[in-house]
Amino acid sequence: MTLFRMVLLLAIGVLSDSVMAQGQNQENVLTAKHAVEIYRQDREAEILEDFVDLLSIRNVATHLPDMERNAEHIIGLLEPRGFETQRLSAGGAPYIYAELNTPGASETILIYAHFDGQPVQEENWAYPPFSPTLLDGPVQAGAQTIDIKSVNGSFHPEWRLYARSAGDDKMPIVALVHTLDALAANGIELSVNLKLLLDGEEEQGSPTIAKIIEENASLFDADLLLFCDGPMHQSRQAQIVFGVRGVTTIDLTTFGATRPLHSGHYGNWAPNPVMQLTHLLASMRDETGRILVEQYYDDVAPLGELEREAIANMPDVTEMLKDELAVHTPEGGGKRLEELIALPALNARGIQAGGVGEKGRNIVLTSATTSLDLRLVPNQTPERVVALIEEHLRTEGFHVVYEDPDDDTLRSHEKVAKLDWHDTGYPALRTALDHPMSLRLTALMRLIAPDLIVTPTMGGSLPLHEFGSRLAAPIIILPLANHDNNQHAENENIRLKNIWDAMQVYGAVLASFGEK
Ligand SMILES: [Zn+2]
Repeated sequence: MTLFRMVLLLAIGVLSDSVMAQGQNQENVLTAKHAVEIYRQDREAEILEDFVDLLSIRNVATHLPDMERNAEHIIGLLEPRGFETQRLSAGGAPYIYAELNTPGASETILIYAHFDGQPVQEENWAYPPFSPTLLDGPVQAGAQTIDIKSVNGSFHPEWRLYARSAGDDKMPIVALVHTLDALAANGIELSVNLKLLLDGEEEQGSPTIAKIIEENASLFDADLLLFCDGPMHQSRQAQIVFGVRGVTTIDLTTFGATRPLHSGHYGNWAPNPVMQLTHLLASMRDETGRILVEQYYDDVAPLGELEREAIANMPDVTEMLKDELAVHTPEGGGKRLEELIALPALNARGIQAGGVGEKGRNIVLTSATTSLDLRLVPNQTPERVVALIEEHLRTEGFHVVYEDPDDDTLRSHEKVAKLDWHDTGYPALRTALDHPMSLRLTALMRLIAPDLIVTPTMGGSLPLHEFGSRLAAPIIILPLANHDNNQHAENENIRLKNIWDAMQVYGAVLASFGEK
């Protein structure tokens, strides 16, 4: 037994009033999991046909009539199962709120998923994105199509269904409704009230979600928010994730003379914006990725004991990644990837100045620009990190402006930098691993997936802060799609085993989470 599991079990013991009683619960968890599995095995074709129907409806969020058709179809799946539904809108694409109350249940789980998808370039797809196609493996391996209706008996779990949003993120909706059918057919009652928030504009950055939540705040009262989006771990082991990073982006421009100057006649005299910019970047970050800006780490919440232990227990993908990506020495000074993504990061995502190759000219340029993305961790804010960078520019001798400087400004300052903060971004979010809801979900998930991967934070960013700052419920991310689902790209797909596993997870959680 790992130290982490010992700590967990100890904590469960200490918190036994609020955390499930293990013996009784274990039996119920496994009963529900098994019941869902048996039920599903008899109805795989039916479940897939339902999924095909939903995936056949185009769902690019900017096309509102399509999103209305999706919403109507989904409501048609929910209402016959006893949900009370509402279509919510705050000026953008529709959101669906749904509620299923369980007599006697005192706790509520709110599940988030989204039913819009990224735009498609149909010519790049092997099969049309809105004509869902079942293949007997990955398309790049030359897999063959399979007619769902022609399959007698069970579907091979490694087969894949290809369509836009198969992996990101319509699957939770179909898995959930069939899980509810499975539980009902077996006389297994839900242990919690269930609420759903289905987002119709996630791929557009959920522009109206803050308004949706604020205008309907009472709807979203819950004890736990399960965020069902995003790919699972590369190992295909079950995973729960407790945080995401925040992000903000800035552009920095340095300036030379007001016209390009001959590098022979003026080199060593004319201020050189490319060299200024590269010196500036080198002053902001060392070769291991450590950010050198004064006070940058002051706000950073360090990882706790449980989080460190969880990371130590994750499969180490370092050697696999080094080999796959032809990397000799990763940045990070020897720290693991999972530790490094729990730290702030400063990435120069581009530099623009002059030309190279055939476009190279022997001149000293007038300006050079870099674009930075700043990944944030708790408790950093975009406002604070941008202020610290601005202060750093001053320390490095730059006069900071926010618009292109006029000649007078350039004449009267030794060095000028323009700071362009065009995308405000948002902070990170992390739920404590020892929050009572975290402990309970972790313990429950371990019963159905003993090799569960507990991930303190993802490296990527999601605007979960929109929820976190407005809702009292702790947020835990439950990724369900295969990591190789090609989300956002052509040939998006879901591996069938991921649908079946998702149903078992939902079954166990809904049947057992709310027990005392
Ligand atoms: Zn998604």
